[in-house]
Amino acid sequence: MKALAIYFAFILAFSFVSPELQAQQAMNKKQGLDMKEQSIVGISALAAVGDWSELPNALNDGLDAGLAINQIKEVLVHLYAYIGFPRSLQGINLFMALLEERKAKGIRDILGKEATAEINNPRNYAYGKKVLETLTGQPEKEPKTGYAAFAPVIDTFLKEHLFADIFGRDILTYTERELATMSALASMGGVEPMLGSHMKIALHLGISEFKLSQLLSLIESKTGKDKADAGRRVLNQISGSAATHKTVDTLINRKDLFAIGAKAPVQNFTGTVWVNMLMQPGNGMNISIGSVRFEPGARSNWHQHPGGQVLLVTGGKGYYQESGKSIRIMQKGDVVQCLPGIEHWHGASPESGVSHIAIVLNSEKGNTIWLRNVTDEEYKRYK
Ligand code: MN
Repeated sequence: MKALAIYFAFILAFSFVSPELQAQQAMNKKQGLDMKEQSIVGISALAAVGDWSELPNALNDGLDAGLAINQIKEVLVHLYAYIGFPRSLQGINLFMALLEERKAKGIRDILGKEATAEINNPRNYAYGKKVLETLTGQPEKEPKTGYAAFAPVIDTFLKEHLFADIFGRDILTYTERELATMSALASMGGVEPMLGSHMKIALHLGISEFKLSQLLSLIESKTGKDKADAGRRVLNQISGSAATHKTVDTLINRKDLFAIGAKAPVQNFTGTVWVNMLMQPGNGMNISIGSVRFEPGARSNWHQHPGGQVLLVTGGKGYYQESGKSIRIMQKGDVVQCLPGIEHWHGASPESGVSHIAIVLNSEKGNTIWLRNVTDEEYKRYK
């Protein structure tokens, strides 16, 4: 009975929202992190664990996604408050080297704006306190309690420096700063109470639970499943109830058996495509396995696999085409064989997304060879 009463209260509370607004809200809930935001997550996660071999790739992705030099620089500066000067500085040094490399290749990156001068915006304890209150939506307690009472100087440093000096620099939004912070904390591990505080801030800033789930999927691909799972437990807790556990899992696995992973590289695909690499070749097993989801209208470029590929379609309805043949439908339950060396593409249909497990075979014969994109004209040729 109680559940029923809550149900009707829920219906009532939402019945005053216009259908347009409801549709917009539903869409916002499902909207993922954009490419720039995903890059901030990747950079912060890798810098936090000191993965210096992968960080340059993430920095490169960030520039390719359109982040300005000053924005990426600011992410690395911001991070020092959480990961320490040594890792922040090492990240900055790698970024400088990468920029030189890109310049030598003739890539012209955008510098971006500088922070507004402090003189227009005195950054002191009161300002830092106000910033923190804006982030949390809660008034700061007086008299101080907990660590702030035990070690008042660190409360001063936090307000005067972190929330005033650093957060006061308007190169990144609060949302971007929180994405960087959560990614660093989740990847460092062992600081779950602080990660929880920042997830609450994120929700207050309007970052959806779906985006937080997606952030944790990216953490899983960058710094490991144990880190992501610890973050998921924190997210489940702050979401409030045991029932939420299921909700969050459902969000992560929205349509798929496996986590959606990260967005696929734009140069090889059209539209939004998610890839979660489940297995890489090694230990005498020459196959790779990835879970791939194409959103409606999305598709791969033309390509071929020197050792062949098998697609196990796990959901939705999509297209598969080999060079010189017509497009054929692939849907849940289908097994598609892409024979070695045959040029082909696969993707979603215009009206439905599709998910498949892609097994690339005989990887010793060479990597996937990527070719030109599938034009709209080719894609629309299905009858
Ligand atoms: Mn293929």
